[in-house]
This record gives sequence, C-alpha cells and structure tokens, in this order.
Amino acid sequence: MDSPRGRIHLLRGLREGEIALTPAVARHFDRCLGCMACVTACPSGVRYDTLIERARVAVERGPRRALVDRLHRAALFALLPYPRRLRALLVALWVYARTGLRRLVRRSGLWGRLPARLAQLEALAPDVQWRDLVRAVPAPAAAQGTPRARVALVTGCVQGTFFPNVNQATVRVLAAEGCDVKVPRGQGCCGALSLHTGREGEARTFVRRLIARLEAEPVDFVVVNAAGCGSHLKTCASLFTGEEDWAARATAFAARVRDVSELLASLGPVAPRHPVRARVAYHDACHLGHAQGIRTAPRALLRTIPELDVLEIPDGEQCCGSAGAYSLLEPSAADEIGARKAGHVLAVEPDVIAAANSGCLLQIQKHLRARGASLPAFHPVEILDASLRGQWPPGPSGIEPGKT
Ligand code: SF4
Repeated sequence: MDSPRGRIHLLRGLREGEIALTPAVARHFDRCLGCMACVTACPSGVRYDTLIERARVAVERGPRRALVDRLHRAALFALLPYPRRLRALLVALWVYARTGLRRLVRRSGLWGRLPARLAQLEALAPDVQWRDLVRAVPAPAAAQGTPRARVALVTGCVQGTFFPNVNQATVRVLAAEGCDVKVPRGQGCCGALSLHTGREGEARTFVRRLIARLEAEPVDFVVVNAAGCGSHLKTCASLFTGEEDWAARATAFAARVRDVSELLASLGPVAPRHPVRARVAYHDACHLGHAQGIRTAPRALLRTIPELDVLEIPDGEQCCGSAGAYSLLEPSAADEIGARKAGHVLAVEPDVIAAANSGCLLQIQKHLRARGASLPAFHPVEILDASLRGQWPPGPSGIEPGKT
C-alpha cells in the first residue's frame, strides 16, 4: 500500500466506496514523499501528482488525526508560512547556536530523549549567521549591458528569512545577465508547503495574495529560486476550479513563472565568468527535476563556469527525504532516505553540494554530519554569483555545515 500503485488502488477503493478513509488508510497517503519520481517513471503517463494532491486534501478533511499529530501540524503551520514569525525564530536560533547552548544540548543527548519530531526540528535547524539577522530583502537591480528581460523575484517565506543570501545572489546574477530585476515587498508565502500537506484552503489564500501582489508588475517573468514554490506556482490555477475569475488570473500568472535556472539557460550566458576550482555534487530537488522537468538547465548553468567539475550523484533521481514538510512530519522514514542520499553524495567525493532547494541541502547536511562528514552547500545561483564576482567560495551562507 506504500507504493504508487498501492495508493492508486486505495484511491480507487475510496472513490468506489469499497473502503473508508480510516486513519490506517490515511497513513499510506501520509507516508508518500510527494517526490513525483513515480510520475516521471510511469510509462503510461498516470498523473499521480494530481491524485496525491487530491488525496492529501481528503485526508486533511477526513477523520481527525491523533491529538499530538494535530498539535504538531498546527504549530508548524502557525510558523512556517509567516515571515515575521520566522524572523523571531531566526533570532532565537542564532542565540541558541552562538551562546553555546546548542553544543551543550547536543552533547547532553537531551534531544535524543525527546519525541522524534521535536528532535528533527533541532537537527534540521540551519546554522544562522549574524549576517542573516541583518540581511534585508534585496534591492531591485538594473540590467547590466543591453536589457534582455524584465523580471520580478518571488522572495519566499522560509527562503527569504533563513537563506537571504540566495535571494541576494539571484538578483545579482539576473542583473549581470541582462535582467531588470524588481523585488516587490510584502509578498508573504506562496502556499506551496500548505498545498503539499493537503491544506488547500490555506494554500489558496496565500497564492491569491501573492498573485494580487505580483500580477500588476510590468515584467516578462516571475522568477522563483525555490523548487517547491516554483512547481506550485506553475500549477496554481488548479486550485481555482469553479472560480472563473481567479482561474484566469492564476493561469496568466503561472504562464510567467520561471525557475531562475530555466530563465538563465534560455537567455544564454553573457556575463564573463571567473574560474571556480571545485568539485560540486549537484542534487536534483524533486520539485525541480520531477515536478518541473528541469534537470538540464541548472547543470548547463554550472558548466558555464570555467574549471568547475559538476558531478552526478548516483541514484540521483531519488528523493533526499526532505520533501517539503515531510522530514518534519515523518522523521524516521526521512532519516532512512536521507542517510542513503548522504552516502551517495560522499561516494563522488565532492568539495561542495548544490541544490535548488534549501530544505534538501539542510537534510543532506544533517546526514553528512551523522557520518562525521561536512560539506558546504549552496544554491547553484550562489555558485554562479561567486564565479561572476570572482569570489570563491561564496560568502557565509545560512546553509553552513552544522557545528556541534
Ligand atoms: S514517495 Fe514519491 S515515488 Fe513513491 S508514491 Fe510518493 S510521490 Fe510516488
């Protein structure tokens, strides 16, 4: 029942009234990563992605979850999609790391005695640098040289708060490659995390707000640098079935959405690159590779950098176990998958890891640490930015190897 076919059989059984949506049935849907590897592997073109999305909504509306589960989910979703609350958490994490409290807690083994989901929150928390506390939303930037496109950047909630360096690098790279970049303020969450956990109403509210904020911008493209947000924004019209006006607005909006690597690859490189002598293991984030079908563009971009060695991770089509909020909701399965991914990463002996999703990088680093290894991790656009500026390695990132 925990395979794509098994879940499709369950869905058919539910639709035909042969089975009920009991907690046991719901668990089989909860255990799905939503990695979409089965969608790209399916020879018959079955759209499991839309099926699991509907199933998750039904599960959220179905029988009440256990109290602990409800409280955990409520706490996560009272925090994650809200940039101001995330900012308070950022400060708390900085204090936790910098005062030596984290070292003390990890050495004491205290987290090991806590429930797995709480321990997971601590283990995946990024290593916040003081610069992250003062880094603001990046300023807009004018195209260098002949303007080739006008774009607006989606800043993201978790991305914008915990990994502001990725947004800063994105703006610099786009401008260097001839884009006029706008960074509209007050965007909030796009609703991707909510949708991927079946919280459809919440996702609709968030994406409506984002569309209303960005649709009037006089730009050619809306650029996203987080894989999960990009895949959601490209398909957000499906949330507005029966709402003609919003479906039309969402369709028009989605038509302008591009992943940053997708846009840069289509424009072609013009800015001069400096060599980067490093071996980078590129990890395909599932919502970029499987959900958006973008595999070539990020590799092609990295290969425009002289002397950079781009390495293929064995079994690269497999998820790392991060999968949106999955690692926070299903820690033991996520750990098993993450440990395997870390092993595959180490097998190619890289100097750094790259992925277009910060959650993937945090997850892989957690499992590298568990093996006593440590590698810097970057979004591909940070590596390209470092090459354009002739500054390798990139500045301190929120995705630093965890220190103990
Ligand atoms: S875990 Fe991934 S491959 Fe397996 S059913 Fe879910 S989406 Fe498909």
